[in-house]
Amino acid sequence: MTVGVGGGCWAQADSGEVAGAGGRADVAGEREAQFLSTMEAAQVGIFVLQDHLFRYANPFLLDLFGYAKEDFIDKLGPLDLVSSEQHALLVKRMNERCAGEPGMRYELAAIRKNGSTFPITILGSPSTFNGKPASVGTVVDISAQKMAEMKIRELADFDALTGLPNRRLLRDRVMQLLATAEREESAVTLMFLDLDHFKRVNDSLGHSVGDELLCAVSERLANTVRRIDTLARLGGDEFIFALPGIQAAAAAEVARRLLVACSVPFSVAGHELTVTPSIGISIHPQDGKDIETLLKNADVAMYKAKEQGRNTFQFYASEMNKATLDRLMMESNLRRALKQQEFVLHYQPLVSLRSGLIIGVEALIRWQHSDLGLIMPDQFIQVAEDTGLINPIGDWVLNEACRQAQSWIDSGLPPMVMAVNVSPVQFRQLGFVDAVAGALAASGLEAGLLELEVTEGTVMHDADINLGTLSALHRMGVELSVDDFGTGYSSLSYLKRFPVSKLKIDRSFVRDLEVDSDDRAIASTIVSMGRNLRLTVLAEGVETAEQLALLRNMDCDMAQGYYFSRPLEAADIAELLRTQPFLNPE
Ligand code: C2E
Ligand code: MG
Ligand code: MG
Repeated sequence: MTVGVGGGCWAQADSGEVAGAGGRADVAGEREAQFLSTMEAAQVGIFVLQDHLFRYANPFLLDLFGYAKEDFIDKLGPLDLVSSEQHALLVKRMNERCAGEPGMRYELAAIRKNGSTFPITILGSPSTFNGKPASVGTVVDISAQKMAEMKIRELADFDALTGLPNRRLLRDRVMQLLATAEREESAVTLMFLDLDHFKRVNDSLGHSVGDELLCAVSERLANTVRRIDTLARLGGDEFIFALPGIQAAAAAEVARRLLVACSVPFSVAGHELTVTPSIGISIHPQDGKDIETLLKNADVAMYKAKEQGRNTFQFYASEMNKATLDRLMMESNLRRALKQQEFVLHYQPLVSLRSGLIIGVEALIRWQHSDLGLIMPDQFIQVAEDTGLINPIGDWVLNEACRQAQSWIDSGLPPMVMAVNVSPVQFRQLGFVDAVAGALAASGLEAGLLELEVTEGTVMHDADINLGTLSALHRMGVELSVDDFGTGYSSLSYLKRFPVSKLKIDRSFVRDLEVDSDDRAIASTIVSMGRNLRLTVLAEGVETAEQLALLRNMDCDMAQGYYFSRPLEAADIAELLRTQPFLNPE
């Protein structure tokens, strides 16, 4: 076999000898043999391709892909060496070569015989082989070059010590966050965190201990915020957090969590070290519209925190500091509220979409404050959770809800489900199962009429321990539902493992159902997934007839929302249960 390369002819490797005999043929044959041995020794991959099959490949190329010659030549083609997404591109290029077009260098992800992948560049040119059109080309492994590029990018964007984003990447991310926030009219919080007296660690224990401590601190800080948040290191002991969608109250919460996280000593190189941070907070848009102003103001606020005696946080806008002070006051107020029974439960109907029947209600807590009026749970549940007060408050809710449900039954109303929200803190509390049993026993309510609403986070955190609690509740006959479904974990495998019977599609997916096709897709996926897993699916926050129609179309089982009724006092709910005003005409 001979192949024409650049006008000459050369024998293929396994022919072992040169075609033809005699004077001129000998000279030509010798040149071809030399040419071939050059190919065979070349430190790039070289191939000849015809009819989409390799007709020649040099040892370097065979090595690169991990094939023996007999498995390769005349058996495989380029399409066997790349993933299927790249086939179209490759075929196009091969056709160009067949049509005699000169080649261009291009990149592909190639697959070795053992399945591993690596980046290559290919350069092919039209040629002839055995008198028919073919192409010859070279393959270069560019793994090392790609690694180097990645390393350079990493060096440019990440802090070498901690691996956190550096100032440059922070800038990029914050600019993006600000652009989105402008568009969506949402907030972005920047936090400037500086470790107090960090210099002392470096001075007394040396820089390598200081460096190790910085790494440990940055890891803990990173674990304290959400995945969508950016934590960057500006250098030294200065860190910046960029928190999208976070307003003052939530920012205070994050700052508090950071202080708590740091309060546990770090063990570094055999030392138990404690560091305290000072945190300054600025919020877009009120404290600045661009990154420079926001950073400067967060820095100013950080110095205020240092002046306040360190180990604390301060907002740039001073009225915010007062707001968080109010929050601290809230703790003692909450204790009083519990003692003086200032909490009340309101109830919101849970409606079957098939029949229109109210088949249950959700108990929602409110705080009837003597001066401030009715305070909604969003404003105090978090403080109650942080202070542990949620346990006695939650116990009260359980008992009151069960008592109310039984009292409706006693007054002659048909039995319906009483859904009660359970905070993660409460759920993980030792003796929670006993508390539920106690509330059922005290009220005389049948266990099957009590439904506990837990969030995905509650279930997933320490899944094994929770499985025990959930199973114990399930054995008691209590129903379990997953609240705010879709906002937490993306792993759905837990639904099969845990004995839950209902999914409540979070309000955020229902709100824009009419206009947002993504939300429609999510809602209908949850509905059909629920059906497959034999779970009841309820949509939260239904406000309009259009939303309801869409949900009915998806074959959603139940709904809850202002469209039917706002949460109401017990007496008003009794009236609704009696009159059943949402029944379908049929
Ligand atoms: P959730 O469990 O998801 O409760 C539904 C929330 O959505 C309620 O807010 C309800 O009033 C509101 N909602 C219902 N329908 C609509 C609607 O059509 N449109 C709009 N915009 N909102 C609607 P609420 O009562 O302010 O409660 C907020 C959250 O506080 C609850 O969310 C729940 O997580 C928590 N919560 C309420 N009561 C308790 C309780 O007793 N214990 C615990 N641990 N948490 C509670
Ligand atoms: Mg709920
Ligand atoms: Mg919910």
